Amino acid sequence: MAANTDSLVRSPLLWGPNRLPVPYAAAWSAETAAVRGALTIRPDGTGLAYREETPRDRDRHGVLWARLIEAPGEGRPNYRALHSYRQRHVMFHRLCQVCGGPASRTAEGWLFLVQPPPPAERLANWSEGALSTKPPVCEPCATLALRYCPHLKDPVFVRSRKPRVWGAFGGFFTPADGGRRLVPAPDDGYLPYGHPSANWFLASQLVIELTRCTLTR
Ligand SMILES: [Zn+2]
Repeated sequence: MAANTDSLVRSPLLWGPNRLPVPYAAAWSAETAAVRGALTIRPDGTGLAYREETPRDRDRHGVLWARLIEAPGEGRPNYRALHSYRQRHVMFHRLCQVCGGPASRTAEGWLFLVQPPPPAERLANWSEGALSTKPPVCEPCATLALRYCPHLKDPVFVRSRKPRVWGAFGGFFTPADGGRRLVPAPDDGYLPYGHPSANWFLASQLVIELTRCTLTR
């Protein structure tokens, strides 16, 4: 195997009587939302804000992020949900979502474990330009994930030479009652950075676009 950064892998937290590994980016039940009551409208009425906002509440594109309590290891792990801060951190720095160490990178790019579209909708080059909220992985953790993650159905390994920060996943809010109330959209969705309505969006996951892809294994 080509020399890469997998030797720097760290051990994930273990949980329960079977000592199951818990991904670094997974959310724990004690890590609840801390948004209620804090979310408001900017004094000039142009978008969302927090009452006591800190620089950490926005990303470099000025998009507001959902606040979550940070308490990894407390309560039960939710293997299907990623903590917004840790997801953004590992995605942005291309770290492994399971151990938090460097993700695997070879000449074909960084390694991602991707859920492909259903076979009937799957084009030959479906992975090219695919949007994903799932951060990359290192080689040992990719093997671990296949063994321990029952919700991964038919996952595919994709290497992307240029995973590009595309936008955010989250929800839009609409001001109501003359700006006294905020109404959340019924469904969450994807926001490309630079979107004109970004001021009314509360992000919960960073989205990347996988480009220059190679399917592996
Ligand atoms: Zn790892």
